[in-house]
Amino acid sequence: MRNVLFVISGPSGVGKGTLVKLLLAEDPALALSVSCTTRAPREGEQDGREYFFLSRDTFLNRIREGDFLEYDEHFGNYYGTPKSFVLRQLKEKSVILEIDVIGALKAREIMAKEGVPVVLIMIVPPDLETLRQRLGGRGTEENAELKNRLERVEYELSKQNCYDYVVVNDDLQTTERRLAEIIRKEKEAAYDQ
Ligand code: ADP
Ligand code: 5GP
Repeated sequence: MRNVLFVISGPSGVGKGTLVKLLLAEDPALALSVSCTTRAPREGEQDGREYFFLSRDTFLNRIREGDFLEYDEHFGNYYGTPKSFVLRQLKEKSVILEIDVIGALKAREIMAKEGVPVVLIMIVPPDLETLRQRLGGRGTEENAELKNRLERVEYELSKQNCYDYVVVNDDLQTTERRLAEIIRKEKEAAYDQ
């Protein structure tokens, strides 16, 4: 039996975090990989749940120690996936990794070498105006930060063809059902191998 690594990407504000929470609540055989970041926690975020919040010095040390499956800098902060943490989780369950497109492609390359089946899923908005409204409605970013995130959208969307699945997040429940079905099908395919 082989557990699967599901990598979920998509522009900031498209609904990744919301969908992943719903999927995890419904499927006890799924785990979430927790990334490390140097950005400050948002209200309600807890260390070890949304992210491991690290100082810049600690993050740089862990880069030097080769502890990240991939890492990148976004909006002036570092974000990275702890490789040992993901491999440990994969021994027990299939794992969801929520990361940006560059990280996703690196993660696929490295994990495929470890013999882990990797499925890339991109979540896209129904249209750009809806994305703007969702990101603005979340109310977690200042205007300049919001602008930064919107400028990156085109790049993220241009990488859709590298992904195994592209799922439009229109109605939340419908999207969650589509994702749950993809996960069920891909787990079944991996267990058969
Ligand atoms: P991401 O993790 O991709 O940055 P979030 O999950 O934080 O995005 O979602 C951004 C905002 O959009 C949140 O306020 C969330 O409640 C809302 N949202 C997510 N999916 C939908 C949807 N299908 N319809 C309407 N609002 C949504
Ligand atoms: P946020 O600050 O909104 O939580 O995340 C900002 C960006 O960082 C998002 O595009 C998110 O997907 C990305 N991100 C989160 N964790 C990781 C990670 O471990 N690695 C990489 N490369 N990007 C990440």
